[in-house]
Amino acid sequence: MSGAAPTLLLCSETDDLSGLCGEFERAAARACPGLRVRCWTPDTATTELQSVVAIAGWFVPLGLPARLPRLRLLASIGAGVEHLLRDPDLPPDVPVTRIVDPAQARGMAEYVLWAALHFHRDLDRVLAQQTRREWRMPAQRPASAYRVGIMGLGAMGAEVARTLAAHGFDVHGWARRPAALDCVTTWAGPEAMRPFLAGLDMVVSLLPLTPETRGLCNADWFAALKPGAVFVNCGRGEQLVVPALVDALRSGHLRAAVLDVFEHEPLPADDPLWTEPAVVITPHMASSASAEVIAGQIVENTARALARRALLHAVDRLRGY
Ligand code: NDP
Repeated sequence: MSGAAPTLLLCSETDDLSGLCGEFERAAARACPGLRVRCWTPDTATTELQSVVAIAGWFVPLGLPARLPRLRLLASIGAGVEHLLRDPDLPPDVPVTRIVDPAQARGMAEYVLWAALHFHRDLDRVLAQQTRREWRMPAQRPASAYRVGIMGLGAMGAEVARTLAAHGFDVHGWARRPAALDCVTTWAGPEAMRPFLAGLDMVVSLLPLTPETRGLCNADWFAALKPGAVFVNCGRGEQLVVPALVDALRSGHLRAAVLDVFEHEPLPADDPLWTEPAVVITPHMASSASAEVIAGQIVENTARALARRALLHAVDRLRGY
């Protein structure tokens, strides 16, 4: 069976990826002729798995990559890779890649710009006034008086920071390593977290989920924010300790939260967050890459992996992103 045509396996336990098959087949015809595309199901035969050279996946079943003797590439169909790295039996020599898409970063910048404008221009308060038929103009301040902090200055965070700075906001960014971005004040490392947070009107997570960022936004973290700050989570749900958020909102310390990502998605219909005042919930829609970009990048990387050439957007498995 090892002589069978190399196969790219679309694979997730939680999502139906069959809708991506056609796009992957078209990309394969263009960039990797002879590559077969198959969609994984729990019934996929072991013999079929012998020819898999690449997985394009999200929640790949634990242990599956270790059972694929010809596997050369484990590719995330999104920007994050934590779903793939959670497998303790991942073969150490199989590279892991992710999607990096400038158009997706621009979409993320639109989403965060909307959130910044909403609170900077007091739309939350004005909408509440409308329910009471109350006509009261809020004081207008320049965007330069509204300080937005971006946690994570990678493909997403850097574009968000640049876009907010171009709209006149006072933008601060925090990452693991020092970074230089025009018109953005940057901070690096855990010791800079508190001074970074202290003066922010809004803080946005655009961090990947790693052991260091899991549970980062806890009670101590919220206490370090300026009273009246707004929290926006576009990173991953597991970075937020939900009871700490709810306490910070109910005590009045936090003005509001905009949540796009959750530990369990879709957010269950009976989750109390749905009805928590001052929480805006969006369905992991901040930004996604197009099917064409996802298929194009992963098929290109499959061709590179088969030819043993350098891969695009490989992640550092040790670092976790
Ligand atoms: P990148 O890998 O390009 O950037 C990650 C950034 O986070 C880097 O600046 C990195 O610092 C920083 N970082 C990582 N760990 C730490 C840490 N422990 N302390 C401080 N900074 C840290 O990722 P992307 O920008 O492409 O994406 C980031 C995340 O955004 C994704 O992993 C995903 O979870 C989320 N996302 C959400 C979407 C949505 O629709 N809600 C869409 C796309 C992404 P350094 O620069 O020093 O390495």
